[in-house]
Amino acid sequence: MPSDRDQAIRELLAFYQEAGVDTPVGEFPVNRLADDAAASPEREGASETAVLPGITTAPDPTPDRPRRSTPAWSGDGRPAAAPLPPDAAVMAAREAARSAASLEDLRAILDRFEGCALRATATQLVFADGNPHARVMFVGEAPGRDEDIAGRPFVGRSGKLLDRMMAAIGLDRTSVYIANIVPWRPPGNRTPTPQESAICLPFTRRQIELVNPDILVCLGNPSTQTLLATKEGITRTRGRWFPFHTGTRAIRAIPTFHPAFLLRNPLSKRLAWRDFLAIKKALAALESTGSAS
Ligand code: URA
Repeated sequence: MPSDRDQAIRELLAFYQEAGVDTPVGEFPVNRLADDAAASPEREGASETAVLPGITTAPDPTPDRPRRSTPAWSGDGRPAAAPLPPDAAVMAAREAARSAASLEDLRAILDRFEGCALRATATQLVFADGNPHARVMFVGEAPGRDEDIAGRPFVGRSGKLLDRMMAAIGLDRTSVYIANIVPWRPPGNRTPTPQESAICLPFTRRQIELVNPDILVCLGNPSTQTLLATKEGITRTRGRWFPFHTGTRAIRAIPTFHPAFLLRNPLSKRLAWRDFLAIKKALAALESTGSAS
């Protein structure tokens, strides 16, 4: 029979899991309250901290180690560099993205890029899936749990729906290219912050430029607002064509609902279907005029 303590620990872990805390980032718990209170003499020497009534974290086995408020280790086990201020991170991202001569280059550069804190909590980089020569490119929001494990975008429930929607207009992963606005899973599947999106944007833009699609499909609000620099919501932008400059040429972009939204709001599939028909029609028009890239 489990003791009260075991039971309390189980409940605490279940609570963490529900809250999306499913990724350990360090060997020992970091008591951030103690960090703040470290300068406060009455807290000095505190050896354990209550997490829930009756549960305490273990005493810090290395009490003299320097305290830090950011994860001490990067996702791949190497010591993490001090985080760059956001503006510097955006500048570094622009420079790094510009230096990529190919998609393989870009993937490798992104994999080494330390400017976005999301990489510290993600399992791995989720760069892209599909055909790098595709004429249609889909850009989602961010990897979720399944994608973080698989290392490929849109492999979970919303990915399965995306596959079915693409199939309905004769497309599949051999004829499209799929990426995300941010290539690392945000903890607990939260929406990426505007800052995280801004830091990753130069990489996504370069990825679009290198794929060089004829049609760009923005899946959901974060993708649409980040790529098309609009503040309008997806219910207003979906189904409309926007000009998008890849860096070398102007193409057409169309926002539509994110498949995860459609799973929660099946009645909106009717509108998404219209958007997909518009994509099919645009592709047919490109083919008939021979203006494919
Ligand atoms: N949602 C996204 O936006 N991207 C993925 O890769 C998976 C789910």
